[in-house]
Amino acid sequence: MTIYWERCDVCGYYSPVKQCTLFQNLLVDAKCCISCLKRNECPRPVWRVEAVLEKPAQPRVASPEERRKLLMELLGKLSSESRTP
Ligand SMILES: [Zn+2]
Repeated sequence: MTIYWERCDVCGYYSPVKQCTLFQNLLVDAKCCISCLKRNECPRPVWRVEAVLEKPAQPRVASPEERRKLLMELLGKLSSESRTP
C-alpha cells in the first residue's frame, strides 16, 4: 500500500494520505478517514485506528528518566572531551 505525503482532499492539509477505498478519486489522511461519516459503509477503511494511535513515524517523547540519562551521557562526553587536550 502506498502512502503519499500530499494534500488531503477532505481537509486540505498536507499530511500522509492514502487513496480512499470508498471514493477512489479521493486522497484521505488518517484523521479524516477515521472521522469519516461513511466509515460504517466502508468495506475497508485505508487508515486503521491503531496505525494512527501508534504513529510510528513520529518521534517518541522521552520519559524524564530517559532525558536525564541522555543528558548525563552528553555531559559525560563533553567533560571527557574537554579533559583530553
Ligand atoms: Zn484530512
